[in-house]
Amino acid sequence: MQHPSSKEQITHWQGLIRQYASYLPVTDTTPIITLNEGNTLLIKLDNFVRKIGGEFDLYLKYEGLNPTASFKDRGMTMAISKAVEKKAEVVICASTGNTSASAAAYAARANLKCVVLLPDGNIAMGKLAQALMYGAQTIAVDGNFDDALRIVRELGATGKVEVVNSINPSRIEGQKTAAFEICDQLGRAPDFHFLPVGNAGNITAYWKGYQEYHAAGIVNARPRMCGYQAAGAAPIVDGQIYEHPETIATAIRIGNPASWQAANHAIKSSDGWIGKVTDEEIVEAYMLVAQTEGVFVEPASAAPLAGLIKCVKAGRIPEGSLISATMSGHGLKDPDRAIQCAAKKPIKSEATLEAVSKLIGL
Ligand SMILES: *Cc1c(COP(=O)(O)O)cnc(C)c1O
Repeated sequence: MQHPSSKEQITHWQGLIRQYASYLPVTDTTPIITLNEGNTLLIKLDNFVRKIGGEFDLYLKYEGLNPTASFKDRGMTMAISKAVEKKAEVVICASTGNTSASAAAYAARANLKCVVLLPDGNIAMGKLAQALMYGAQTIAVDGNFDDALRIVRELGATGKVEVVNSINPSRIEGQKTAAFEICDQLGRAPDFHFLPVGNAGNITAYWKGYQEYHAAGIVNARPRMCGYQAAGAAPIVDGQIYEHPETIATAIRIGNPASWQAANHAIKSSDGWIGKVTDEEIVEAYMLVAQTEGVFVEPASAAPLAGLIKCVKAGRIPEGSLISATMSGHGLKDPDRAIQCAAKKPIKSEATLEAVSKLIGL
């Protein structure tokens, strides 16, 4: 067997920039900082659909399978590559957790200094572990995400640091590739696309991706975009800033989304909608998808599934529809919440065959 000796002979997946370069703002000289993100699985959920009484095909885009376990890696490979191209030395972001994990990882790979601002006490354990582990300077701000983003914007305006939040257009460019992949994997565009909405970068990115594939003639339709916010953090749904957003879904605990207008545009022009779901509804969907399908996502990712359950009850989804849904982050990001929600705790037993047999009823 011959070993690949040049780039051309390597056929395994090498990240989304190389895969979709012709749709991205890169040139032959752009340094590509990648962890081979993208190419995530599309998983069909028949049990879940049956359980909620739906008559349609539902595919999850399992973005928790990216290198840092959330979709943020798609935007970050672009943002960090562009930061290196323009010779930035420090990258910075505000984050509810996953952006910081991703920024820290890609910055480590690019040998850039990374600073992350997190809302003190409101970040899932796995995400905090990642930022610290990848070596980012981690600052816990005595405020919420919106406060942290305001500070980051002001630091960005000094020109001394490169902001890698989704206000950086490179992030949206990278994230739009998830829509390309869904179309490539399904061989067509879905009828509906469900996803969680926090800062609203991702709904903006998906809509951009679907539009571009449609314009390029690769698909002949575009999905209706269906976004879901948490009821305690639903500024776009209610048309007003939430000064004190509250939800257990910390990844979407945002009161003043940066891409608010773009999200409204995506919803309007796709003939879609945006709705809100309570924490109870989120937890129900979070448990149900884990227990009927073996798919463990973080609470924010369950928001669109909770929304889908409501849509089925309201008779809003036509029979035979093809639906995709973004599972934005991996369940292991937030183990505390999982253990708190799971109805069953481990049962203690003596270390004997008899004791264990008795417990399992044998
Ligand atoms: C960032 C994030 C979201 C929200 O995405 P936006 O682009 O901010 O709307 C949802 N779920 C998870 C897991 C995230 O990390």
